[in-house]
Amino acid sequence: MEKVVIIGTGCAGLTAAIYTARANLTPLVLTGTMPGGLLTTTSIVENYPGFPEGIDGYELMVRMQKQAERFGARVQFGTVEAADLSKRPFTLTVDGEAVPSETIIIASGAGHRHLGLESEALLEKKGVTYCATCDGALPMFRNQPLVVVGGGDSACEEATYLTRFGSTVYLVHRRDTLRASKIMAERTLSHPKIKPVWDSVVTEILDVKQDKVTGVRVKNLKTGAESAIDCAGVFVAIGHLPNTQIFRGLLDMDENGYVIPKRGTETNVPGVFVAGDCSDHVYRQAVTAAGLGCAAAIDAERYLAKLNQ
Ligand code: NAP
Repeated sequence: MEKVVIIGTGCAGLTAAIYTARANLTPLVLTGTMPGGLLTTTSIVENYPGFPEGIDGYELMVRMQKQAERFGARVQFGTVEAADLSKRPFTLTVDGEAVPSETIIIASGAGHRHLGLESEALLEKKGVTYCATCDGALPMFRNQPLVVVGGGDSACEEATYLTRFGSTVYLVHRRDTLRASKIMAERTLSHPKIKPVWDSVVTEILDVKQDKVTGVRVKNLKTGAESAIDCAGVFVAIGHLPNTQIFRGLLDMDENGYVIPKRGTETNVPGVFVAGDCSDHVYRQAVTAAGLGCAAAIDAERYLAKLNQ
């Protein structure tokens, strides 16, 4: 039986792994479908303390994993399909196998929010993408006009990154001010290749009949006017949804699926802890996720110590 199973290998999961490993709990750390988490899809991370020149998101996660493994964490590729939290030990079903554990740290992060358009789903990977760092350099986007949807830090980061490849990058945002941090917003709006399209939403991605992206239809929310923008790619960067579906009905969550901690990182089920973006919709930073991962590890360690007294 495991003492601690950590679900997720983003900043929260791997920091929890470092701490529980150093407490000799030899945690089992499950990667899910995105080893390293969302940060691996970012280019340069400029706000993680300790890296004055910035650090590549992928490299940061590789370093965290190595650090955790150095102290005995066992990182395993695997996805949790189901959880039984009704009795102790808890049981997780991981790729069909039952994994019993005394404690669980959920650090499953969040995935990309979708626009919810039928054309978006039909053209995914045919010009519609959720990650500029992953797909921006594809030949289909080179020297072509591109559209980024969103007004947060992610949208700004994606738009700026895409200026390396696209001819023009249209930033379609539903309001007339960016939500992004000041530094990112200024950098984005001052870029000669980036053209903001304010107060507008994408109502359709064209062209499903051609089975590839050729443009978007946008609607101005203030005037109601509709227009079309020709483009070869649509990069959707409108935020995230927590990866907590399997715990629905088992743990207290808000209406968007974020786990609501009871105290610190404790959930409503004693022995189950939560950390990072799957429970935090306020800060959502690499460094806060790491901090919460540390807290969850300490909480789990203290819980186990009490249990075995
Ligand atoms: P976010 O801050 O939640 O921004 C989402 C954006 O998408 C908002 O501008 C929102 O519009 C828009 N939006 C949401 N739903 C929409 C819909 N259905 N249709 C059209 N637009 C929609 O998300 P994020 O940019 O992914 O950032 C998440 C967190 O990560 C933030 O805390 C951010 O600071 C952090 N982050 C940091 C960095 C960095 O520092 N390098 C990079 C990326 C992300 P409204 O503004 O109108 O709500």
